[in-house]
Amino acid sequence: MAGRGRLAALALFTLMGTQLQTGLAGGAGAPVIVGARLSQDENGAKLVFDLSRQVEATTSALASPDRIVIDLPEVSFQVDSSASRVGAQPHVLLVRGFRFGPLTPGKSRVVIDLERAACPAMVSSRSIVEGEPAARLTIELKACDPSAFAALVRSSAILTRIALPPVTLSQPVIVLDPGHGGLDSGARGLRGLQEKTLVFDFCAELKRQLDKTKRYSIVMTRYGDQYVDLDDRVAIARKASASLFISVHADTLSEDANVSGSTVYTAADRASDAEAARIAARENADGGRLSPASRPGNPDVADILFDLKRRESLTYARIFSRGLIESLKAATRLNHNPERSAGFVVLKAPEFPSVLVELGYLSNAQDVQSLSSPEWQTRTAAATVTEIDAFFAGPGKPDNGPSADNGVAPSAVRDTAPLAH
Ligand code: ZN
Repeated sequence: MAGRGRLAALALFTLMGTQLQTGLAGGAGAPVIVGARLSQDENGAKLVFDLSRQVEATTSALASPDRIVIDLPEVSFQVDSSASRVGAQPHVLLVRGFRFGPLTPGKSRVVIDLERAACPAMVSSRSIVEGEPAARLTIELKACDPSAFAALVRSSAILTRIALPPVTLSQPVIVLDPGHGGLDSGARGLRGLQEKTLVFDFCAELKRQLDKTKRYSIVMTRYGDQYVDLDDRVAIARKASASLFISVHADTLSEDANVSGSTVYTAADRASDAEAARIAARENADGGRLSPASRPGNPDVADILFDLKRRESLTYARIFSRGLIESLKAATRLNHNPERSAGFVVLKAPEFPSVLVELGYLSNAQDVQSLSSPEWQTRTAAATVTEIDAFFAGPGKPDNGPSADNGVAPSAVRDTAPLAH
C-alpha cells in the first residue's frame, strides 16, 4: 500500500478491565476482539483487529453515505470504542471512523465510514504467534476513483471473500490422561489394587468406545505402564491440539473407608473444599508445575489473549464437568460432593478445557469392586462418551461457541447509527 511509512496512528483502542470481566460470562465461545487500531494517510487506511482466534471476514460497500462493511461471525468486542471516532482528529484523510457491534444473532459487523471513495485493497487474517490461535485481522483500504467505488457498490453483495487458512474440518482431538504409571503407581487400595493400572484400563476402554464412534481423534498421554511427568502430559495435549483433556485418577482415604464414588474436578486457584485441596496436593506431588514457558510468546497482546483463552477454556471445562456428572449418575455411584475444583497441575493449560475424574476410592470396598469390574468400566466409559458427544454437538461446542448472546457490547455501539445502514 502506498505511503505505508507515513501512516499516522489515529486510534488505538485500549483494553478495559471491566469489560473483560463482564464480557466473558456472556460471550464464552465466541471469538473475542481485544484490540483495534486504525491508521491512515491520504492514499490509504489500515484497520487491524486482534482476536482470540481466526474468523472469516466478508467485505462489501454501501453508498450515501459511503461505507465499507466488514461482516464477521459473532464476535465479542472487548475494546474501548470511545476512540473510534477519527473526526476528533484535525485531518480526516480517507476514513471518518468506524463502528462495530452485534448485527443479528450469530453475526457481527464493522462499518468503516468513508470521507472519500476507498476500495478494499487487502484483507488478511493470520496468527499473531505461530502455532497459537490468537489472530490478527487486517483490512487495508486504498483511495479509489468514485466511479470505481460506485461499481463496487453495484456489484457488491460480496466484494472479497478472503481465503483464510483451511478451515479445520478435522475431528475434535480428545486427550485421555491415565494418571501415574511406571514407578509411580499412584494410590494403592484394597486387594492390592493399583491406581495406575485401574485408570489405564479405564482409559483404554474409553478410547476403544470413542474410536468406535469415528467422531474423534484420541491421544493418550501414555500407552503403557510408563512414567510421564505432569508437565509432559500437558505438553502432549498441547502438541496434539487437544479439544478436550480428560485426566483419570482414583483416590484412597485411609481414615474413612466409607467415602466413595466418582468426582469430577476442574481447575481453580483455590480449592473448592479441604478434600479437593488434599487430593490436588497428592496428585500434584508426582512432579510437574505449570512452567512460564507454557505461556504464548511475548507480543503485548499475548498475555491478555492468554488470560481470555484460559477463562474461556475453564468455562467449557465447567460445562463439560457438569454434563459429565449428570451422565455418570446413571452409570455409577457419585461422591456426595461430585463437582469440585482445585489447583491440579494437569488442568492448567489455557488452550483447551480440562477435567480430572477421580473414578472412586480404592479404600472403599464397594468402589474397588466396581472399578475393577469390566462391566462397570464399559458402562462408565459409555456414560462418558455420551457426555463427550453432547459436549461437541451441543450449543456449548467449543469450536462454534454458544448460539446465545453476544456478551457485552461496548456501550458506544448503541449510541451510533444502526450498523445495518
Ligand atoms: Zn492419581
